[in-house]
Amino acid sequence: MKKIVIAIDGFSSNGKSTMAKSLAKEIGYIYIDSGAMYRAITLYCIQEGFFENDTLNEDKLQNQIDNIKIEFKLNKTSGLPETYLNGVNVEANIRSMEVSSKVSIVSAIPFVRRAIVALLEKMGKEKGIVMDGRDIGTVVFPNAEMKVFVTAKAEIRAQRRFDELRSKGDNKTTYEEVLENLKSRDYMDQTRKESPLVQAEDAILLDNSYMTIDEQMQWLIDKFKQITTN
Ligand code: C5P
Repeated sequence: MKKIVIAIDGFSSNGKSTMAKSLAKEIGYIYIDSGAMYRAITLYCIQEGFFENDTLNEDKLQNQIDNIKIEFKLNKTSGLPETYLNGVNVEANIRSMEVSSKVSIVSAIPFVRRAIVALLEKMGKEKGIVMDGRDIGTVVFPNAEMKVFVTAKAEIRAQRRFDELRSKGDNKTTYEEVLENLKSRDYMDQTRKESPLVQAEDAILLDNSYMTIDEQMQWLIDKFKQITTN
């Protein structure tokens, strides 16, 4: 069966990456988390002191951008890819609230987007990938054979993200902070000048507010089968 590119875009914390990971596993494709790359660059900026509160010194980042190396390596135990920043595993650190609260500032910068889009395009050359993000179906792979745009009510997404933070031991962050962060990221992602978050014309809409993970998977597999057998 011919391999295709699957682009899964949509709002923050709507379970895109969970579904993209499971779909890739189920159909034997490679999963690529584009958000992890923006998160890794954000972590780098925090570690290097490029932020003063919420103001980023873009010149400092631009001077260093070619020295930032982001890779994905497979965790042999979980079978899932993990993010490495200049050789260090940062998979857990890039999911912190601090990174979440600053990532939309970094991802709005045109030279950052150009660098990441170039890397993502290379990764998808061989097809057989599931990539999730905000601009995969519109900018990175406008010719992707399968495009899904995922959405869910903000309050439901915040509750899921809040439960996840608690399950990972974060007992400090409140539900209200999570909801606030999610709404502000949605707003910044949709209104930025450079490749804003928008549904591609040929993307299929998936509102998973009231769907179980199993129902979503079935929905995705059905769409995948329809597209690859036609
Ligand atoms: O997908 P995730 O929530 O981890 O993405 C973190 C942030 O990275 C998003 O809020 C968005 O600002 C940015 N992003 C992006 N383009 C992508 C993926 C993520 O701008 N393709």
